[in-house]
Amino acid sequence: MTGRGIDPASFAARLVRWQRDQGRHDLPWQQGRDPYRVWVSEIMLQQTRVDTVLRYYPRFLQRFPDVRALAAAALDEVLEQWSGLGYYRRARNLHACARQVCLLHGGHFPRTRQELEALAGIGRSTAAAIAVFCFEQREAILDANVQRVLGRAFGLRPGSDAASRKAMWDCAESLLPRQDLPAYTQGLMDLGATVCKPTRPDCLLCPFAADCPRELDPVRAARAPAPAARRSLPWVLLWARDPARPAIWLQRRDAHGIWPGLWCLPQHDDESRALAQARALGGVLHCVRHDPVLHRLTHVDLLLHPMEVVLRPHALAADAGDGAGWFDPARALRLGLPAPVRKLLQRA
Ligand code: SF4
Repeated sequence: MTGRGIDPASFAARLVRWQRDQGRHDLPWQQGRDPYRVWVSEIMLQQTRVDTVLRYYPRFLQRFPDVRALAAAALDEVLEQWSGLGYYRRARNLHACARQVCLLHGGHFPRTRQELEALAGIGRSTAAAIAVFCFEQREAILDANVQRVLGRAFGLRPGSDAASRKAMWDCAESLLPRQDLPAYTQGLMDLGATVCKPTRPDCLLCPFAADCPRELDPVRAARAPAPAARRSLPWVLLWARDPARPAIWLQRRDAHGIWPGLWCLPQHDDESRALAQARALGGVLHCVRHDPVLHRLTHVDLLLHPMEVVLRPHALAADAGDGAGWFDPARALRLGLPAPVRKLLQRA
């Protein structure tokens, strides 16, 4: 896939996998599917960073726990709660919208994107997000973050003219998967907010780093500022597993160099060497490439590529003295492991 650009057919599946593994899952508005809570969060998050919203959101919900409470409040009370968040037009629209929901919809948010879009202060993308997260509708979002991600990933130029906007929406809609819409939509939001940032995107952490046209663009590469003195090392970590028992192959690292003396998944410079070792350990049944993990050390960035290999049962190599061997996961976690390897094994 390298060099040909991102395959639109696999974009959603890759993003969903990344979201499940590396995305955000603990934000307060992600707990449950109450459209009121999702709507308030979506409006607050417009032009405001998540860490700021996290300071205001609980207080706002405590004061206005549901749409009826918000509709019944005086506008001044709403503005007071909004104080500090800025862009007060959002608070006014929030209040007006709550009243519309009560007057026109009996206090229940409508379920379709089109009906939601007819309410005060709810644009197409916000309406789509509510419809996806709360009502399992198949709709595309396209806020500023998503425009940036799709623009970079598919070489589109974001613009305010009608043709550019239409091209963006067409792209967003064409990428929609048939299933996993909430995870996919959250994945777009997470990637735009945490990895594909406006300046200095963390492409090393991106699931599309290998085939994103922005990353492969030679003109851009030539224009890019000279890299800092930091080195970046790609490491393949062989995660060999015994399917017949929960055992993982670990090796103790050299006393010198990175992670001296720690136990670790075997580290290789490329996949072919990792596979050669896996074959020597017991014959490869199948292999799963996990998303890369960036681990920053003081002087170097490690880009870890965990490669999980399930070996043929009953054909496993014996332990190799006290420097390498099979460990059951509980025992492995009691060893001195590098932090990212421990995290990986804990997650498994
Ligand atoms: S590789 Fe970089 S530019 Fe491309 S989508 Fe990922 S973070 Fe954005």
